[in-house]
Amino acid sequence: MSLLENKNILIMGVSNKWSIAWGIAKACSREGANLIFTYEGERTERSVKQLLSSEMPDAKLYKCNVTDDMDILRLFDDIKNDIGTLHGVVHSLAFAKKEELEGNFSETSRDGYLLAQNISSYSLVAVSRYAKNLMTEGGGIITLTYIGGERAVPNYNVMGVAKAALESAVRYLAAELGKNNIRVNSISAGPIKTISARGVSNFTNMLKQYEGKVPLGRTVTQEEVGNTAAFLLSDLSQAITGENIHVDAGYHILGL
Ligand code: NAD
Repeated sequence: MSLLENKNILIMGVSNKWSIAWGIAKACSREGANLIFTYEGERTERSVKQLLSSEMPDAKLYKCNVTDDMDILRLFDDIKNDIGTLHGVVHSLAFAKKEELEGNFSETSRDGYLLAQNISSYSLVAVSRYAKNLMTEGGGIITLTYIGGERAVPNYNVMGVAKAALESAVRYLAAELGKNNIRVNSISAGPIKTISARGVSNFTNMLKQYEGKVPLGRTVTQEEVGNTAAFLLSDLSQAITGENIHVDAGYHILGL
């Protein structure tokens, strides 16, 4: 039997075929899940529609900009009416202004700091608040983080602080939602070339250095992150919650 047969899984954060969320969607689809997608706004609507029409024409698609409470409320109302129960949520989204992803961290603006926290961290809390009401049979919520939430990584700056808050939110949500049999975990992925990653100054160089240093001697793929996500959303991981799993070819164990 496939790992996610008869499970309804919401995937937030696909904007194109390079998105990590798309790697997760492909793994979940292979494992038999029914997928529901969101897009942020006009900027991503066309590309997501194109991707789905050629590869997953049966998937449902809704708009949700996570800075807008009404969008979040409407999304879960629509899912309740159109689908009913949810078994999994994938939160694979983040944003910081490009100028905050380079140079000195102490120069971070108040606006830039709050924006990064709002989209990249608080949104998991807001989404979980509504998702839990539809996860009446239990299930899994997962989010994506990076080693920059645990260590000071050059140029990652404000996003590192947002990821630290996100990882903490995972623990608080896991502690609360365990009684509903909802597990909450994060995946700390190694660097992967995506539109968001390119916003971090010097990203390509970082990727090259990574390959030379990590135990497995290579970077990780969207597909590998997708497989770990499918595991975390499935019953195979039913005693794992509040965890941060590194899918980073071993980078996090190094004393760099
Ligand atoms: P991506 O650009 O493909 O995905 C980011 C997504 O965030 C996009 O789909 C975008 O539409 C969405 N988004 C931004 N603002 C939003 C808003 N206000 N409302 C709703 N959606 C919004 O890049 P990605 O690398 O696939 O990023 C996905 C996640 O993975 C992010 O949390 C990122 O920090 C994390 N991550 C990425 C890497 C990497 O190297 N690429 C490594 C570790 C963790």
